[in-house]
Amino acid sequence: MKLNPSKIICVGLNYKDHAAELKMDLPKNPIIFLKPPTTIIYDGDSIVYPIGQANELHYEAELAIVIKDKIKNVSELDAQKYILGYCCANDVTARDIQKADGQWTRAKSFDTFCPIGPKIVSGIDPNNLAIKLYLNDELKQSSNTSQMIFKPAYLVSFISNIMTLLPEDVIITGTPPGVGSIKKGDKIVVEIEGIGRLQNRVV
Ligand code: MG
Repeated sequence: MKLNPSKIICVGLNYKDHAAELKMDLPKNPIIFLKPPTTIIYDGDSIVYPIGQANELHYEAELAIVIKDKIKNVSELDAQKYILGYCCANDVTARDIQKADGQWTRAKSFDTFCPIGPKIVSGIDPNNLAIKLYLNDELKQSSNTSQMIFKPAYLVSFISNIMTLLPEDVIITGTPPGVGSIKKGDKIVVEIEGIGRLQNRVV
């Protein structure tokens, strides 16, 4: 697969079980931020550790939504029509930089920091899918998209009421509990029920 999005919109703190893990209140509105399209890599590609710049990289397993049409101001009810399909994604984050900067752009934007794949799957209900992450074959994250605070259709509507969404734009929908650090040589697999497995190594 190949994607050429104009932008990647990311949602922070969107799983009830993750908010509980962090002892944080549930957000009233989706907390969104952007990753540049130059962060995208695909199944089998390598995540490049930014040596000398970051000292703590984290994985974040996420469900990705791929947009089908140019849309603006769509309702939650209509949103489904404008979704091309779903993929696995990994919102790779330099956690030390995120903490140091107090905002997220540098921490989230290094090249290769958005693995996505292995394919775009349509015709599935995104609201009840097991989502898992394995680090070197050890299960580290295990939840279900039913734990999302803001569901995919709501997110598409909410974001389209802020910015025009274009074909192949990607929305990544937040991560469940169990995030943790990765190092050079690690193998990371994001697995979502009905979609498949996205595997990447850190180099
Ligand atoms: Mg994330």
